[in-house]
Amino acid sequence: MRFTLFSNNYLKYTPNLPKMADISVKAGQVKKSSTLALTSLAKGMIKEGRDVVLFGAGEPDFEPPREFDDSFYSALKEGKTKYTPVAGIAELRKAIADYSSEKRGTNLFRENVIVTPGAKYSLFLSMMAVLNRGDEIIIPRPYWVSYAEQAKLADAAPVIADSSEDFEIRADLIESKLTQRTRAILINSPNNPSGQVLKRNEARKIADMAIENDIWIISDEVYEPFVYEGKHSSFLSLGDDIKSRTIVINGFSKSLAITGLRIGYAIAPENVIDAMSGMQGHTVSNVCSALQYAALDVLNKSLLDSFSAGMRRVFNKRRMMMYSSLKKIEGVNVYLPMGAFYMFPDVSSFYSEKINGSFELSELLLNKAGVAVIPGAGFGADNNIRLSYACSDETIEKGMERLAEFFSGQGG
Ligand code: PMP
Ligand code: GLU
Repeated sequence: MRFTLFSNNYLKYTPNLPKMADISVKAGQVKKSSTLALTSLAKGMIKEGRDVVLFGAGEPDFEPPREFDDSFYSALKEGKTKYTPVAGIAELRKAIADYSSEKRGTNLFRENVIVTPGAKYSLFLSMMAVLNRGDEIIIPRPYWVSYAEQAKLADAAPVIADSSEDFEIRADLIESKLTQRTRAILINSPNNPSGQVLKRNEARKIADMAIENDIWIISDEVYEPFVYEGKHSSFLSLGDDIKSRTIVINGFSKSLAITGLRIGYAIAPENVIDAMSGMQGHTVSNVCSALQYAALDVLNKSLLDSFSAGMRRVFNKRRMMMYSSLKKIEGVNVYLPMGAFYMFPDVSSFYSEKINGSFELSELLLNKAGVAVIPGAGFGADNNIRLSYACSDETIEKGMERLAEFFSGQGG
């Protein structure tokens, strides 16, 4: 098997196989997830003994809380290993509804919650639940790599709205993209990759726009625990008028540092949850049973916020560390993000005939400097690259040294 990095489909995999029968048009149009593809490529290189510093996929380098592990093992030992209700065990759905009600100052019930394998599947099911063929979904740029692909799988058209120069999500820029066909607006705050946090007054304006135009808001809030400046504004905290057309996506991948275990959830009006459950029942049945009991235990013991607050403090320190190192590199144009755990510097001053954009630069960084970053093009921002700082201090120090050396040899 041979890998060449970053073709149009992001990561070209060229196995020596005989010609295969055609796949469907829809499947053929899906771009691979560049975050996951790059990360598994870099992890594969590390496994082969290559010295690669990994700033790839965003996954906290923390161990989950001990209580989580204990409840997970206990659930297995107690035989909680059978099918569960499709939308999740009743106790967990209720615990999520209670936790979210308290946090958002609203009233949510078990029927408003579905537990899915990762927030990613909640997003996909939510699009499948509310979008019809030909509908448009407005997605502010820069956007996380999976949104547009999921919309296309749901037969809808992703319509990209630019954000302001400093990547702030603004209602007026979204409004300019409204058409008769707009059926949903996807908001992601804190934002991956930009790290920007939506201001409450902008959230309110977007909510008013949704009410006036009879549009759904899909609000991806998975980075909620990681806000270092400003405040997170959930669409569910804005009032009852917007609640009936809001789908909030959230999960435990980041907040419990369990990205590989796959558990997330959506909160939405009951008819949407019901529709999502119908589709989940025919595709994945339910989230791993023991995992649901372990997540329940963490919520029952009120450990979620204290655990993620511990990570937030460490990430904040790393945010400053990475920011000040990047800032010193001539030609790298970086701003200080307010949330999530990514830096998203503009590196276009290094582009040339030889380095024709973020894919090629990332390929060079991987092969020549031994640093894995994610090209901005997959997020709709080819001038930029994304670096995750959810990794150890030593990794940041080592990676920053390598970047400084690499870029000083390029002449910005
Ligand atoms: N939304 C955003 C913005 C993300 O970065 C991710 C990646 N973790 C997800 C959703 C999906 O998270 P999960 O691992 O829970 O599927
Ligand atoms: N969301 C993380 C990222 O953007 C994990 C990878 C993925 O699910 O795309 O890096």
